[in-house]
Parts: sequence; C-alpha cells; structure tokens
Amino acid sequence: MAKITLKNLRHSYMPNPSGPEDYALKEVDVDWADGGAYALLGPSGCGKSTLLNIISGLLVPSEGHVLFDDQDVTQRTPDQRNIAQVFQFPVIYDTMTVRENLSFPLKNRGVDAGTIARRVAEIAEMLEVSDMLDRRAAGLSPDNKQKISMGRGLVRDDVNVVMFDEPLTVIDPHLKWKLRSKLKELHQRVGRTMIYVTHDQTEALTFADKVVVMQDGEVVQIGTPVELFERPTHTFVGHFIGSPGMNLLPATLRDGGAFFQDQNITLEGAVTTGTKGAVEIGVRPEFVTLSNSGVPARVTKVSDVGRHHVVETMAGDTKVAAIMNGAIPNTGDAVHLQFKPSQTRVYADGWLATQPGA
Ligand code: ADP
Ligand code: MG
Repeated sequence: MAKITLKNLRHSYMPNPSGPEDYALKEVDVDWADGGAYALLGPSGCGKSTLLNIISGLLVPSEGHVLFDDQDVTQRTPDQRNIAQVFQFPVIYDTMTVRENLSFPLKNRGVDAGTIARRVAEIAEMLEVSDMLDRRAAGLSPDNKQKISMGRGLVRDDVNVVMFDEPLTVIDPHLKWKLRSKLKELHQRVGRTMIYVTHDQTEALTFADKVVVMQDGEVVQIGTPVELFERPTHTFVGHFIGSPGMNLLPATLRDGGAFFQDQNITLEGAVTTGTKGAVEIGVRPEFVTLSNSGVPARVTKVSDVGRHHVVETMAGDTKVAAIMNGAIPNTGDAVHLQFKPSQTRVYADGWLATQPGA
C-alpha cells in the first residue's frame, strides 16, 4: 500500500506542444492518502485514463513526478511499481480456465499453492464465479469475462494500489449495481488504496471516500461526495454532479448584493473581495422552494422521478429547477421562487466567490 503524490504533472501526446490546448493533462497536483478509496470523475476525453496510465506507469508524463510513499517512481515500469490495473475491456487469457486466469498474477510472483487456492476461492466467491472456475475463459459472456478481469486485479494482496478504468462499461445494469457495492465492501475489508475512474457520478459517489473531479485536463475539485454536492467550488462540479445539476442564474453585483432579475438574492455569506463583472448565482434544485414572494417564474414541466418531483420553471429566460415533495404545482402556474440562503452562492468565471456565512 502506498501514499500517492502527483507533482506538477503535465502530459501532451504531441511531440512539440505549444499551448495549453495541446496538453491532455494541464497541471495536476494531488496527494492521495494510503488506503483511501478514490474516484476520478469527469466527462469522456477529460484526461482520466491519461492520468491513470501515468500513475500505473504505462505512460511517462511530459512533465512532473509520480511518488509512491515519497519515492519517485516516474520512470519505473508498471511491474516495478507493484500495482494492479483493471481496464475498460476484459484482459484475460482465453485459452486458460477461470481458475488459471485468477491464479496467474499470484503464480507469477511465486506465491505458494495453498495461498493461491485460498485467495482464488475468496475472490471467486466475492465475484460469484465459483461455479465457473474450471471452465475455459474463451466461452464466457462479456460480463463474466470482465468479472474475471477484475478478479485478476484484486487477487494479489501486496499491491501498492488497485486501479480501475471504467471497469463496469461492459457489465449489465443490474450486475453493475451489485459489483459496485462489492468493490466498496472489498475496499473496506482490505483497506488498500484504490482509484476508480468513471464518467458516471453515481459510480464515483457510491464508491469513493474522495472524488477528484476533472474537466478538460484539469482537476477542478477534490472532495467527499457531500462536499461536492454541498459546496461545489466550480460551476462545472455543480452542474456535473446532481440530478438535475445546480441552477446557474446570470446575476449582477451591486450595492453590496447579488441581483437576479432585479431581485436581491440573499447569499450564504459575503462575496469575495475583488469579485466583479458578470457572475452567476448557483443554487441546487434541492434548495429551491415555491412561495408567495420571491423571484417570479412560470412552471414549464413537472416530472415524477419516484422519490420526489422535479419542477422546471422559467424565470424570465432563465431555466430554474426545483426538487419538491408534497404539494406540486401544475404546468403553466405562475409561482415565486425562494432560494435557501445558506445554500446560495456566487460564482465568478466559474469559480466559487462567496464565503460561507457565520
Ligand atoms: P478520458 O479517459 O477522460 O476519456 P483520455 O485520457 O483518454 O480521456 O484522453 C484525454 C485526451 O487525450 C483526449 O483529447 C484524447 O483524444 C487524447 N488522447 C488520449 N490518448 C491519446 C493517444 N494515445 N494519442 C493521442 N491523443 C490521445
Ligand atoms: Mg478513459
């Protein structure tokens, strides 16, 4: 197990990068504590796999360093780093049986037969593949192949870190849910450092103690699921996490207040000194309520999503969503919107620009 430090990492796939747009990773500095469960979350193409492959040693970064327990491993091969990596698509030996596939990483390291048998049985049970152990891998369905691939990543208990790169892509939805909770359980049991890459917020938030949110080659926020939900430091995080995401309302700052559609909106606290110009007010749908006073709006759509309703409104030409329980308005109703002050913030150029209230 190891603490992982990424120092001033930058990576370009081009031989002569000239500007920031030539970099798949722009500047990444991260410290991951030993034994944590981490997720790397972001849309397709934001640099997640690039970052993971730099940590595992499949890629050498153009600039910067990777440290395991304060030791520089930037130039070391994956094998020398003692890691396990599970990819998006199964990596298994078709000609071997399931048991041979699962045993392979241990045999390779000279582990004794008794330990191999025990570990393979444990992992097979966890992944519910015990009844397939003597079957040839070639005949397995794609999701069973991927389970074996995950098993190969999990079977060793001496690795520094286990990394998963969108491992559930080929798994059917029902099994996805199950495997996700199994991985979480497994992390809690073995306490090994795990990094889980996904573009799916639910996967990230259920698996990880800490989530690293990436956009366009940069880390925009690192936080617990609660922190990311409650206090996004960037509008991207507000928008990307949540269903629906955070409302973002074009606003102006004047007379010491923030105004949306000529209404002075009460914020969580003071606006950061020096903030000026066009800003947005960010408030999650969970903290928008309908009232007799406040911002005038019209209901455009009401959706029953099971546990609650999503009420979509238009305030002028700005869309504002509210999540509601209990009495639900009708489409077309004229309403007034109230925002919970402690959960209402200002963002300038995308970045959080209010201090939490006292
Ligand atoms: P993600 O895993 O988040 O989808 P990637 O790390 O795969 O993102 O890709 C980040 C960026 O780098 C993308 O613009 C992608 O097109 C580019 N990229 C990825 N791999 C290569 C490669 N081998 N050669 C050139 N460009 C690449
Ligand atoms: Mg990827």
